[in-house]
Amino acid sequence: MTRPDSAELVPASVPAYVLTRKRMRTVRMRVDSRTLEVRVSAPLTMPLWRIDAFVASRRDWIAERRAELESVPMPLVRGREAQECRAMLEEWLDALMPVWCAEFDIVPPHVSLRIMRTQWGSCRAATRRITLNLELARRGFDMAEYVLVHELAHLFELNHGPRFYALMDHHLPDWRERKARLGPL
Ligand SMILES: [Zn+2]
Repeated sequence: MTRPDSAELVPASVPAYVLTRKRMRTVRMRVDSRTLEVRVSAPLTMPLWRIDAFVASRRDWIAERRAELESVPMPLVRGREAQECRAMLEEWLDALMPVWCAEFDIVPPHVSLRIMRTQWGSCRAATRRITLNLELARRGFDMAEYVLVHELAHLFELNHGPRFYALMDHHLPDWRERKARLGPL
């Protein structure tokens, strides 16, 4: 009898993985984002050699996924790096604000920069105050520009409704691609 949820050891020729047997039809694999371990779920009756072959055939994908996960930097904390991020963003904003305030035909709103844990930016239209996450400095100029334009658009449209997205499409046609690259915080 097969024991469900039992971890089994595998030969060294195959990338190491932790196996869980489940009542399922197909084999599934993921790389744990914290430990970088390969975790495989396989149907109760699938022979081990087939699971090994599957994992071995996806060796490149595993390496890529690990590299991707490792490249995600640790969250920004107060200190020197945060100060460098602030200086970088201030420099970018010096270039971006005149261009985008002219584009939207607005008086520059107040922009503050700080470490934010749940969002890339925020906008209080009533007080015309925009806040940008310092973390954006680590993601690049295009990402900072995308979030700035998003927040500037909120000066006109409070919610993420069709009119908001029409504004974004009009002013920054590639915003969807930038948003996808930035990803969630
Ligand atoms: Zn928004």
